[in-house]
Parts: sequence; structure tokens; C-alpha cells
Amino acid sequence: SIPLGYFGGIGLASRNGILVKGANFLDIITKIDTVVSDKTGTLTKGVFQVQKVEAVGDQRELVQLAASLESYSTHPVAKAVVEYAGNSTLDKPANAEEIAGHGLKGTVNGRAILAGNTKLLDKYAVTYPEALKEIVETMVVVAIDGAYAGHFVIADAVKEDAATAISELNKLGITTIMLSGDKEAVVKKVARELGIAQSYGGLLPEEKVAIVQKLKDEGKHIAFVGDGVNDAPVIALADAGIAMGALGSDATIETADIVIQNDQPSRIASAVKIGKITKSVVY
Ligand code: ADP
Ligand code: MG
Repeated sequence: SIPLGYFGGIGLASRNGILVKGANFLDIITKIDTVVSDKTGTLTKGVFQVQKVEAVGDQRELVQLAASLESYSTHPVAKAVVEYAGNSTLDKPANAEEIAGHGLKGTVNGRAILAGNTKLLDKYAVTYPEALKEIVETMVVVAIDGAYAGHFVIADAVKEDAATAISELNKLGITTIMLSGDKEAVVKKVARELGIAQSYGGLLPEEKVAIVQKLKDEGKHIAFVGDGVNDAPVIALADAGIAMGALGSDATIETADIVIQNDQPSRIASAVKIGKITKSVVY
């Protein structure tokens, strides 16, 4: 039978905006020794803004073509580019395709467009200035008809309670690790700002899965927190899969064991504490 206190724990969690699925929540959450987190949308707001545009040729054309293609995507960086285009008339892209961890490929007004990170351009053998690699910001790099055409420098901000979230977890003796598809230099900068000792950038979704699998093989009890569509496999693999509920994609919310309704990362530590308190009362 399920002990009465179990329901108390679930009630307490839900009053704190933490939705719990499944009956073994307490056992899982109280054993967690490692919290692995996505960056964008989980520890950062996931609301990017274009800071700067560099165009090889006509900037208006670059913005119009890139934004038209990005209108196909719901990725936070895509939304920034579309927003930046403001009220310029966007065209519906043809053959648009999202390439996980890379960006988008498609046709706009008969022009072949790539919009993504430098890895995307590498994949299609499009050359670009070496100097792009030195920029310590998130970027959307654009190619038109197979040639580098310019880039957008975009920025996100860390969530107000992200640093607290990490220090609370550390106080509980939990190791924190950040994994991201964003470029390594940006990931390291955010990790430093938040006090996260271990971080890895430039990862493809399957590489995130491989890292979590390795930690599990080492005997670690893992919680993974994420928000994006690409995070669903790794949420499924973790001992405790945690999804951000407000910004999170349906796939991650569906897969998760725990949903943080208001997207506050500090609720991860709250969930662990509620689990421990409830367990100490029940058993
Ligand atoms: P993360 O959520 O950790 O950033 P993703 O796998 O969603 O990981 O994305 C990895 C990277 O791929 C992004 O940081 C961005 O550089 C690039 N990217 C993904 N989707 C797009 C898109 N629609 N437009 C431009 N770049 C994109
Ligand atoms: Mg993400």
C-alpha cells in the first residue's frame, strides 16, 4: 500500500509548483546525487535578443531571408531573428528542415538558405571568416546560395534564481553539471557566472544522452532538467527526468517524471528537500 505521507509529499510539491508523476517519486528524488541541466530555457531565460547584425552584402535582404526561414522554427534563437525582422514581410520557406543541434535549412524565394551555428555551415562545406570562432556570444550564421552571407549576434540572460538554484543543490551535496548545444565559449561563461564546476558545450542531442549514460554507468543517480524537444530522450534516460513546464515542449513534459510549472530552477532543490522531508516523516 502507498503510505499516507506519500500523498502529503505530492501535495506539498504541487503547492510549490512541482508536479510529480508516478508513485516512486520519493525513492528516486531522495537518491539523486547529480543534477545535469540544459542551459537555454532551463538556467537562462531562453529569450534571446539580437544585439548586432553583420552582413556581407545587403543587410535588409539578409534579415528578410534569414527571418523567413527562422519563422519555421520555435527555437529561442529563431524567435529572436524573427522578432528582429519586425514588420518586414516574411516569406513562407519551402522544404524547411530543422537539423538538430545545428539550425535550419530551406528555400526562401528560390534562394537556398542555411541559418544556424558554424557547425551547420561546416556540415554543408560553406566557408566563413575564421574570426567568427572568436566571438563569445550565441550567433545565428547565415549562408545564401552556398556562400556565407552574414551573422546575427544574439544574447540571452540567466534566470534570476539560477545561481541560487545551483548553490542550493551544492549545499545538499549534489553535483551540478550543465550540458548545452550552444557554443563552448558561451557555455563556459554562463557556468562561471552560476558557479557550475562542470559544463560541456557544442553538444548534439545524442551526445547529451551519451554523457548521462556514462554518468549512470559510473553509478551516479541522475536528475536531468531540460525544456526543449531535443531534451526528451535524455529526460527519459535520467533516473529523474525534470521538465520546465511553462516554456517546455510537449514532448519533454510528456516524458518527464517531474514538471516545474513556473520554470524556476530553484524548484529543483525544493523538490529534493520536499522528498527528503516527506520520506523522513513516512518511514
Ligand atoms: P540548446 O537548447 O542546448 O541550445 P539545441 O540542440 O536546441 O541545444 O541547439 C543547439 C544549437 O543549434 C543552438 O545553440 C543554435 O546555435 C543552433 N540552432 C538550433 N536550432 C536553431 C535554429 N532554428 N536557428 C539557428 N540556430 C539553431
Ligand atoms: Mg534547449
